[in-house]
Order: sequence, then C-alpha cells, then structure tokens
Amino acid sequence: MYPSAFEYYRPSSVSEVVQLLSQNPDAKLLAGGHSLVPAMKLRLSSPAALIDITRIPELSGIRDAGDRVVIGATTTYDEVMRSELVQRTLPILPEAIDVIGDLQVRNLGTIGGSLAHADPAADLPAVMLALGAELKAVGPSGERTIPADEFFVDLFTTALQPNEVLTEIAIPKPSGRTGMAYEKFANPASGYAVVGAAAVVTLGDDGRVSAARVAVTGAGPYAVRRTETEQALIGQEPTTEVIKQASQRASEGMTFNSDVFASEEYRAHLTRVFVGRAIAKAAQRARG
Ligand SMILES: Cc1cc2nc3c(=O)[nH]c(=O)nc-3n(C[C@H](O)[C@H](O)[C@H](O)COP(=O)(O)OP(=O)(O)OC[C@H]3O[C@@H](n4cnc5c(N)ncnc54)[C@H](O)[C@@H]3O)c2cc1C
Repeated sequence: MYPSAFEYYRPSSVSEVVQLLSQNPDAKLLAGGHSLVPAMKLRLSSPAALIDITRIPELSGIRDAGDRVVIGATTTYDEVMRSELVQRTLPILPEAIDVIGDLQVRNLGTIGGSLAHADPAADLPAVMLALGAELKAVGPSGERTIPADEFFVDLFTTALQPNEVLTEIAIPKPSGRTGMAYEKFANPASGYAVVGAAAVVTLGDDGRVSAARVAVTGAGPYAVRRTETEQALIGQEPTTEVIKQASQRASEGMTFNSDVFASEEYRAHLTRVFVGRAIAKAAQRARG
C-alpha cells in the first residue's frame, strides 16, 4: 500500500528541526525509516509532514567523552557496530545489534530511531537500561537529559514530547571488572525479540558482585529493569545457584504481553531463562 500524501522537509540543523516541529504539529521525524515507513505504508501512521533528520552532521557520530561514550541519534546500527571505541568499551552494543533485523535494517536503522520508537520488541531499549544510558532531547525550551530508566514509559511511548528531537545518547564507560551480555529469544519470522535480556555485572576484588543492572525487552509493553534480580546478585559470588535464584525473580511484578507467538506464561518463563543466561555470560566475562 502507498502512504497518504505528506509534505517533506530536509533541515540542516537541530534548531531548524525544532522550529519545523513547532510549525507542523502533525509532522514525524524521519530517521532510518525502518519502522516509520512500514507503518505509513500500512496507514497505521499518516503524518502530514516528514522532517528528514538524516543529513544533520551534529546528530551523527560517536565520540569519546572521557568517562562516557556519546552516540549521535542518527548514527546507524552499522556505524555503532563498527566503532572501535564501542567494541572496546561497550561490547554489548555490537552483540545486540548483530541480532537486529538484517543488513539493510542495520545499514539504515538508527540508534535514536530505535529508542524513540520504543517498539516493545526492540532490542536496544533493554541494552540502554542495563548500561545506564542518558538520552538528550532538544525542544523549544532548550535541552534536557532523560535517564534511560525514565525514558520508556509505555507501548511505543517515551518521555519525549512531540515537539522534541532526541539528539544523542551518553553511555557511561564501565569501570573495574565489568562484564556485559545480551541474550535474545528471537521471533523466527521477524527476528524481533520475543524476550531479550541485557545484563551488566561488576565484580569487586573479592569476586562478589558489586554492581548489577539487568533489563528485559519483548516480554511486556515496554523495556524494564529487573531490580529484584539485581538486588539478589549484589554482594554475592555469582555462582550457578546464585544466578538461578536471582533470575527466578526476574518475572516478579511484571506485566507480560500475550500474542500468537507466546503466551504470558511462556514469556514469563523465557524472561527467567534469558535473564539467567545474560547474567551468567556477563559474570563470566567480568571474571575475564
Ligand atoms: C525487516 C525488519 C526487521 C527488524 N528487526 C528488528 C529487530 O530484530 N530488532 C529491533 O530492535 N528492531 C528491528 N527492526 C526495527 C528497526 O530496528 C528500526 O530501524 C528502528 O526500530 C527504527 O529506527 P529508524 O532509524 O529506522 O527510525 P524511523 O523508522 O525513521 O523512526 C521511527 C520513529 O522514531 C521517531 N524518531 C526517529 N528518530 C528520532 C529522533 N532522533 N528523535 C525523536 N524521534 C525520532 C520517528 O519520528 C518515528 O516515529 C526491524 C525492522 C525491519 C524493517
């Protein structure tokens, strides 16, 4: 099906984007187009205007900001995967991106587009929660920083206002003996996550867990941290039994999706299993 007719704008700066958003309240930002264009073709989305943000230099690229890695919102999955800085400091990102869609999706899809879209089955929201990322948004009243913990608020809904553009994602570099891992049970037809689990685990000198962040995507309406699981790990040596006990808590208090691919019960089961696998792999990597 063809999308309904729309105006097309191609701004060259973030301030121009903000101005266009204010002038066109029914507009949508166009990044890689790999979620928006299919939705427009199905007429699930019919924006009056598209604001193409793919040719704005200040929105793209990866930089080393000392204790953080900063990734521009329109940086593609492929650019993130190939970055030596990302591979060295945040290896969970290439690991997760490697299982997103196919080559075409990874060549055009952007990190900011994925996070702003907040598809319940997208991979990166869980990874950003586990990494403790901060997202920068710019709107008519200036810029603000939104912690990943507050960014994903519901199905396809984020803390971004309609007149704001996500400009960059700042991710703290891990310190000490830290390991990270992403484990995904992919839908065999679409490749999206039926359940995906991300874990970042830091070990102290005594071999016990000094910090842990664990998050899940696909299972419910939006990606969430699993703080009960994190608490069950902290102060413990990450033995098989400790990880098993902690991952059993991963489904506590969660709302699960249910569809033709997986029932609520099955998603709850997958959540516990894949959280356990991600923690075990992260802990193993932290040990070196
Ligand atoms: C065949 C196929 C398989 C896929 N498989 C997977 C998968 O396995 N895992 C996965 O996670 N994803 C998957 N995807 C989705 C893909 O990752 C999308 O590219 C991504 O979700 C959206 O990024 P985009 O740059 O294409 O954004 P777009 O489609 O351009 O935009 C998506 C939404 O975000 C908004 N937006 C974009 N950028 C910004 C910004 N900077 N600030 C504010 N709002 C913004 C747009 O207005 C739009 O509403 C798949 C897609 C396809 C077509």
